[in-house]
Amino acid sequence: MREKSILLAGNWKMNYGPKETLQFLDALKISPKPKAKMRLYLPAINLETAVKTITVKSLPIEIGAQNVHGEKSGAYTGELSASMLKEIGITQALIGHSERRQFFGETDQSVLKRTVGALTQDLEVLVCIGETLQERNQNRMPDVIRTQLALLLADETCLSAFGQRLHLAYEPVWAIGTGVTATPAQAEEVHALIRGLLAEKLGAERANATRILYGGSVTPANFKDLLACPNIDGGLVGGASLKPESWMQLWSLCP
Ligand code: PEP
Repeated sequence: MREKSILLAGNWKMNYGPKETLQFLDALKISPKPKAKMRLYLPAINLETAVKTITVKSLPIEIGAQNVHGEKSGAYTGELSASMLKEIGITQALIGHSERRQFFGETDQSVLKRTVGALTQDLEVLVCIGETLQERNQNRMPDVIRTQLALLLADETCLSAFGQRLHLAYEPVWAIGTGVTATPAQAEEVHALIRGLLAEKLGAERANATRILYGGSVTPANFKDLLACPNIDGGLVGGASLKPESWMQLWSLCP
């Protein structure tokens, strides 16, 4: 039986500014959990405010960026580098969210570049993968997952970071923001597939050390059953991370 280390991660997407971030953090009443960590991926403009606030209030929350460029600096208008994030105390980044892929042209190749750049510059990275409804209906889910992982599993920097500073989130695109959650059985099937692919390349120990979060309409009503699945190591949560009440309820379900 794997020893799980749970991560409850929130993704605020393009919601809330610094004022609302402060209000949110002020409203939180949380205490540390023995086997779980909490993290929030915030819009860039809120990162510094959040880091300062959690430090002052000693809140057990990690703060992460929703994206990061792979290069150290340069002519990449609108982008942020790992060194900029680190300067304000950010060590976590989300890469390859399906909304980045869908609306901003990110590909498995650009996800790889960002991931390698971020890892090389000492960030911890959570890479998102997942199939669309059409791909699932065409029975292509396993191929899509294999393809999305292939470049990461062929890269030396990623291979040495899996299970340490590189982790994954399985987010079926059809479940994100739709209110339709994958059933625990559907999610576990894909998590087990992902873990198996990691194990083929890295061995069971490193594969088991890699966190695989589930994301897609997670709520306090469905989180407990998802968490009970052997290969689900936590949640990446959009909508339910935006209200202190639902966020605290999710935290209360963590071990
Ligand atoms: C997400 O933003 O990654 C997400 C899973 O959103 P939601 O929980 O709202 O489906």
